Amino acid sequence: MHSSQRYDVIVIGGGHAGCEAAAASARAGASTLLLTLDVTKIGEMSCNPAIGGLGKGHLVREIDALDGVMGRAIDRAGIQFRMLNRSKGPAVRGPRAQADRKLYRLAMQAILAEQPNLAIAAGEAADLEIGPDGRVAAVLTETGQRIACGAVVLTTGTFLNGLIHIGLEKTPAGRVGEKPSLGLSKPLARAGFALGRLKTGTPPRLDGRTIDWPTLEMQPADDPPIPFSTLTARIDVPQIECGITYTSAATHALIRANLHQAPMYSGQIESTGPRYCPSIEDKVVKFASRERHQIFLEPEGLDDPTVYPNGISTSLPRSVQLDILKTIQGLERAEMIRPGYAIEYDFVDPRELAPSLETKRLPGLFLAGQINGTTGYEEAAAQGIMAGLNAARAVGGQAPVILDRAAAYIGVMIDDLVTMGTREPYRMFTSRAEYRLSLRADNADQRLTDLGIAAGVVGPARPAAWADKKARLAAARARIAELAESPAKLAKRGFPVNQDGVVRAIPDLLRLPGITWDRVAGEWPELRDWRADVIEQIEVDGLYQGYLARQEAEIRAFRRDESLALPADLDYSAIAALSNEIRQKLAAIRPATLGQAARIQGVTPAALTALLRYVKKAA
Ligand code: FAD
Repeated sequence: MHSSQRYDVIVIGGGHAGCEAAAASARAGASTLLLTLDVTKIGEMSCNPAIGGLGKGHLVREIDALDGVMGRAIDRAGIQFRMLNRSKGPAVRGPRAQADRKLYRLAMQAILAEQPNLAIAAGEAADLEIGPDGRVAAVLTETGQRIACGAVVLTTGTFLNGLIHIGLEKTPAGRVGEKPSLGLSKPLARAGFALGRLKTGTPPRLDGRTIDWPTLEMQPADDPPIPFSTLTARIDVPQIECGITYTSAATHALIRANLHQAPMYSGQIESTGPRYCPSIEDKVVKFASRERHQIFLEPEGLDDPTVYPNGISTSLPRSVQLDILKTIQGLERAEMIRPGYAIEYDFVDPRELAPSLETKRLPGLFLAGQINGTTGYEEAAAQGIMAGLNAARAVGGQAPVILDRAAAYIGVMIDDLVTMGTREPYRMFTSRAEYRLSLRADNADQRLTDLGIAAGVVGPARPAAWADKKARLAAARARIAELAESPAKLAKRGFPVNQDGVVRAIPDLLRLPGITWDRVAGEWPELRDWRADVIEQIEVDGLYQGYLARQEAEIRAFRRDESLALPADLDYSAIAALSNEIRQKLAAIRPATLGQAARIQGVTPAALTALLRYVKKAA
């Protein structure tokens, strides 16, 4: 990297958002630089060593469908794959894998190293240079280097003015052992961005050799493990078990007695933490009647004795953390490798962003990841892929690619963020999606891969694999229709169907009690040769048939409003029929469509009618 060099896109930060943004920008054809504080930490998991989960697993499959890197990296590093919610419907099942932390980092670094158009450099971005046209023109590093560019994607995670708390101790840091990023908040504040402060936390790390495993319940991996990426044929990484234990009455008494030393309760931290990933002190206070809380003991690697006790994130003083361990079955003699801690950091109000993830104040500047108020690797990566793609497209003079709420969980998340902002760390849930029967983890490629190919974000390896799967699916669906039979014929084959004259196909039979794919394949042996991913789709098609048709009608109605674009320079003060309050809200958020305007809190149906009338008259 030389100071005379120019890149189309510079991605600042090599966390989950940054890796995905850099790879997407490069795949989209832009010359890209990934500038990060420490290149050996690229792909580091700051907290839990796991990818996926409920809602989050959907995001990873969508990232993969757009040819992102997260799914491929976890497939090379996952040491315990599990499908969560397996007993529930396919729409809410969540693929998850615990990772070998080191293998994940190495896999991510190897994938990025092979990516054409992508340079990687160590350095601290300290300032942004704005050109005479008001666009971001260069990144200035701490050592005084100037690197010119067409666009910047900022993905600094928890590093912006990061401050770690352990009991009453406070240390400026981006993550434990890493310095914070102090410079970059300044250009953001100078440009007038609304900055806020959030908090998150992590549990202590334990030495697995000092845990009394035989006293614990153990949880195995799925057999066989199901990969995240459709490009992964099978998982070759050895699979391990994790342990399960619980807090006790003694744990809770100890925490209550020490709340005055907990930064969240002593007043030392005022910012909001993730509601759905609370610290153990929070759980004990807020769910006072609960007798115990579950803890998963997750090994951090195949050749690493470190264990992550999932469920006891804490920022109590180190000595109290040690005493807490003594009150938990199996951990009585456990040694702590590192104490848990809380971290406070700056974030940008995501209402500062357009749905493309470009900031409205500084054209050419895109933000992705925890800096936008989200929490979680998957949420960060999902924003990263869109910001990287759209930064590359902006430099190439192309319109941004925006996924709407009916297309993807990625679209739901970005729309929530840019329309409503967030007061607490935002994480994905299946309940956030209105069209979740259509937005399933199992059909992410059917929803997004063709769109990704058209948008130019899919690399050379995927299209052939996708075309093959598409052809198999189409052939299977056609064949299924041909195999439909009358009730009389089906009764002869022993299927318990009503003799109502209605011809039934295999998906209808699969809805009958006790009828499995194996039973059906016993009648039509050709079905035995179908690939597992194709069989899964045929089963899901049958399960959701009627509901999906209804949902498609709802999606058509939703897209009617979404297709009504509002001009970016609309003068809301000129619309007399709007109240002052609504005018201010609309002017602050500048919704891209009438649909987005409708989702802004406080915007009434009457206001929408007035807005629509005004825009139509002006057109
Ligand atoms: P990060 O992964 O933080 O990456 C930021 C990157 O930016 C790093 O590579 C850093 O080196 C680089 N960088 C920063 N400043 C500069 C600069 N000026 N110049 C160049 N490079 C820079 N999520 C959960 O879902 N649940 C949890 O319980 C949870 N707990 C957490 C606990 C802790 C202590 C921490 C630190 C994070 C926790 N998270 C949790 C959040 C999770 O780690 C993040 O959501 C995720 O890592 C965000 O990804 P990111 O890419 O936005 O940022």
